[in-house]
Amino acid sequence: PQSLQLPGPVCTWLRPVTLQELLLSKQNTPSAKLIVGNTEVGIEVKFKHMRYPVLVAPTHVPELNALEVREKDILLGASVTLTQMRDLFRELIDSRPAYQTCGLAAVVEQLRWFAGNQIRNVSSLAGNIVTGSPISDLNPLWMAMGATFIVQELGSEPRHVPATDFFLGYRKVDLRPAEVLVQILVPFMRELEYVREFKQAHRREDDIAIVNAGMRVKFELSESSKLVAAEVAIAYGGMAAKTVMAKEVAAAMQGKEWDTSALQLGLQALPKDVPLAPDVPGGMAEFRSSLAASFLYKFFVHASLKLP
Ligand code: FAD
Repeated sequence: PQSLQLPGPVCTWLRPVTLQELLLSKQNTPSAKLIVGNTEVGIEVKFKHMRYPVLVAPTHVPELNALEVREKDILLGASVTLTQMRDLFRELIDSRPAYQTCGLAAVVEQLRWFAGNQIRNVSSLAGNIVTGSPISDLNPLWMAMGATFIVQELGSEPRHVPATDFFLGYRKVDLRPAEVLVQILVPFMRELEYVREFKQAHRREDDIAIVNAGMRVKFELSESSKLVAAEVAIAYGGMAAKTVMAKEVAAAMQGKEWDTSALQLGLQALPKDVPLAPDVPGGMAEFRSSLAASFLYKFFVHASLKLP
């Protein structure tokens, strides 16, 4: 394919075909809007009357279409669609040991309840991440699984940003004006590591979440030969202005045996991580707090049943 520059009465459409060209277009016009599936930008333009005089389609840049399976992780291009990612993950789930792909299985399951086919077929991984919606269904999983986002601007080395550090505020992410999200690294899980997804919406299919979550625990044998939760990573959407890690919960449960007293400690710590005032934006404070607690309880049961 050739690079395109199509000037029009409302906007200029650029289609770079190399990473260098893409980064140059952002360097020249930092306000240029990248556009892939248009499922977020389209809504901004139609309903919020936003205007973007320069649109850049990064759909033909090879690095942004990568689907590379490596020893310990998967390298996904930022323009990869949710359907392409799901299909790759399904192949890996069928061909690799179950423990390695339990995180991918959680993503695939979450995608069942993510919009509908038409949206999943066109919308990109980057579009979901960079929008930074507090109710993104995938961001809690990327954070819990320990994914890394690779961002770059012209003339600089790529920056590797842990997903847990990427979301700064309401629809605000750690991306400089001329930077582009290039790739996402999704790790395979290790033995005795378990991941699960959660989403509660008003309607089961094709609806946005009220609360969602991604949770991971990694067990190890302690010196006294007991299995303890060595790493606990709990991320919630719909409980704050951005997707958040429940750090107090993790600290309360880490290093402990996976029993009901650890669960109690986690549940007690939860309001410190995700406090909701009665007049919180979005309302339903009590319901949302109960959902957050019930997801943690369900995850506790899930991992308990998996333990050898
Ligand atoms: P676009 O609209 O093309 O772009 C979105 C943003 O990402 C823009 O700001 C764009 O500039 C930026 N961007 C794109 N690529 C890059 C890049 N490489 N580097 C930097 N910035 C970039 N979301 C959910 O989480 N769960 C749902 O259930 C859900 N349901 C939906 C249902 C409907 C009907 C619709 C319309 C949307 C829904 N969404 C849902 C939101 C949406 O589909 C996703 O966020 C989608 O992944 C966005 O991808 P896109 O390619 O369409 O983004």
